[in-house]
Amino acid sequence: MTPRAVDVLVIGAGPAGLTASTYLARFRRSVVVADGGEPRANWIPLSHNMPGFPEGVTGGAILGRMRSQAEEYGAVIASAQVIALEQDGDGFIATTQAGPAWRARAVLMATGVVDHHPNLPEVEDAIRRSLVRICPICDGYEAIGKTVAVIGRDDLGAREAAFIRTYSDAVTLIHAGAPASLTARDELARLGIDLIEAPIDRVRIEDDRVSAVCW
Ligand SMILES: Cc1cc2nc3c(=O)[nH]c(=O)nc-3n(C[C@H](O)[C@H](O)[C@H](O)COP(=O)(O)OP(=O)(O)OC[C@H]3O[C@@H](n4cnc5c(N)ncnc54)[C@H](O)[C@@H]3O)c2cc1C
Repeated sequence: MTPRAVDVLVIGAGPAGLTASTYLARFRRSVVVADGGEPRANWIPLSHNMPGFPEGVTGGAILGRMRSQAEEYGAVIASAQVIALEQDGDGFIATTQAGPAWRARAVLMATGVVDHHPNLPEVEDAIRRSLVRICPICDGYEAIGKTVAVIGRDDLGAREAAFIRTYSDAVTLIHAGAPASLTARDELARLGIDLIEAPIDRVRIEDDRVSAVCW
């Protein structure tokens, strides 16, 4: 398989890769965007902090618009997992399962991150329905006045609970880490955040709300 020559290979067709590809295509570079999975953005049930969408927008809708915009200027979006990148003179050869696919002068990695979901039954369905949230910055506002359980570990979990405490008076940190790793106990007490130190094994969902967290 002879690799196809392009100016730039963007790896990842989430918001970052698609934004870059629109800019690059408008800079009149030949651009291929390779994506081998599901962008994390596709999980967004309804975003309220996306500039320009005061009524909210789903992750799927924003990705669709961003893909069209990039393609409008000539970016090519390919469904492919890049499994190897090798330097080749002043460029790179990118290989997929099918073999060497592209030779690019530059490669932009926009591969995102992968969430570690809590090990709970049906948690993925609950995330897609906005019943379990995984981005405090994105969704804190929607927690105003609600009773919130934050599943977290170590002092990072404590910091996330403290952040959510700015939206709600009823916050409980369910600490999923080793007890010794949580040092911010005094701060949690000062903020009035309850602490549960036990692994949870179930989130009970009734209709469209979480009705119980069980441990
Ligand atoms: C439930 C949920 C709700 C959220 N709500 C909001 C919100 O309201 N507002 C907000 O601003 N943000 C929100 N976010 C965060 C937002 O989704 C991320 O910040 C955003 O998706 C990051 O974009 P990205 O392009 O960096 O990564 P991603 O969207 O994750 O895209 C990266 C892509 O790279 C691909 N990839 C990785 N490795 C390879 C490889 N080797 N070859 C080919 N492709 C590869 C992946 O398959 C993926 O498609 C939310 C996230 C989740 C999960």
